[in-house]
Amino acid sequence: MSHKHSILNLLGIKDKNIKVMDKDWLKEEVRNGLHCKIISAKLTYTPEACKCCGCVNEGSIVKNGTKLTHPLLLDMAGCPTYLELKKQRFLCRECGQTFIAETCIVKKRCHITNDVKRSIAVQGTRNISEKDLALEHRVSNNTVKRVFGDFYDTFRQVYTHLPENLAIDEFKSVKSAEGAMSLIICDSDNKKIFDILEDRRNKSIMDYFMRFPQEQRAKVKTVVVDLYGPYQKLFQALFPQAELIIDRFHIVTQVNRALNMARVSFMNTLKKSKDLKANRDYRKLKKYWKLILKKEETLNSTEYRYHRLFKGLVTERGIIDYLLSLDEGLRLNYNAYQTIIFTVNHRKPKLFSSFVHEKQQGLTVKMDQALKTFRQSEKAIINALNYDYSNGLVEGINNKIKVIKRAAYGYRNFSNFRNRIFIEYKLLEIKTAA
Ligand SMILES: [Zn+2]
Repeated sequence: MSHKHSILNLLGIKDKNIKVMDKDWLKEEVRNGLHCKIISAKLTYTPEACKCCGCVNEGSIVKNGTKLTHPLLLDMAGCPTYLELKKQRFLCRECGQTFIAETCIVKKRCHITNDVKRSIAVQGTRNISEKDLALEHRVSNNTVKRVFGDFYDTFRQVYTHLPENLAIDEFKSVKSAEGAMSLIICDSDNKKIFDILEDRRNKSIMDYFMRFPQEQRAKVKTVVVDLYGPYQKLFQALFPQAELIIDRFHIVTQVNRALNMARVSFMNTLKKSKDLKANRDYRKLKKYWKLILKKEETLNSTEYRYHRLFKGLVTERGIIDYLLSLDEGLRLNYNAYQTIIFTVNHRKPKLFSSFVHEKQQGLTVKMDQALKTFRQSEKAIINALNYDYSNGLVEGINNKIKVIKRAAYGYRNFSNFRNRIFIEYKLLEIKTAA
């Protein structure tokens, strides 16, 4: 392998018509304050036909000078690298017009090689802003946008098929989105994004799913949603055969919030008191808020540790017993909370429904409300305890979407945002012939 061939090989140039110059083929130059490497080469061949009139070359097309171009290559050794490519110009004697030699490494009238564009398209799957991609590849922001447009098709729903098990959640998208919240629909089985809707309001969700054929909607077996009431009615109407499942995490948050509020309202009664003991109890309740939310069965009752506020050795169990002894209301709320999370964690649907239907005394308004919500969506919650599907997957995707948005410093246009999400989740194929 000659060294000139090796140079082309290193640069990844596959076009056989390009030859590196015999001497002075590598120059270094300062361009825009950056040290650049410039590799000189020539592109020439015998054309088969005229590009202008189409006549077959039987000696009528002659070489007629060259045109100097500087297509951008991928960086070499950290330096911007350009190809100083002398393109052959041809003159057609039949029509008297001239045309310039073409190559597969760079498009006609373009000064960015296809390798650079492909690299941008591939790097687009990483969580990196378009601006940084542009800087990294030494192109403009608009080039990056154009490359995405050229290499990826815009995602379009075909409305022919629906997954059997859906997981649906909402997320905060772009400002321009109606209602500022968008809806994400996932396939619980293959764990992929199925679609992203700009508007999460009932009418547009209805319009969207109604575009799928009736038999596809009837095939949906489960839908995981959050506790938001109107959604449950809507999805039950859209998917008559489906079992609605409330996400378990949302069940727990309801009682979690209620217990926290019960604790804080009790703390506020202590705060006003001038009594020293009450003050100390206030601080205890404030400090051990996390312990109160801990699952009762995991509280440690054997390990004694020193706790400053207790001025002595005490176990976790001991702390909780003391805190609950302060107020009967707090104790009742605590028990309700622990029963709910126990039934959810250990999947005890029967215990759950008997508990929420029991007449409870001394609960705060918030806790009562939580239990009332549970009664209203009882069937869907029981499903949550019987099925393994949850919204964990969607919450994870939501989290990544947030990061995508942050990395780009926000998106103004919803469809650009959506497309980038699909690109980063590798749900859009890179087009090979671009
Ligand atoms: Zn011609």
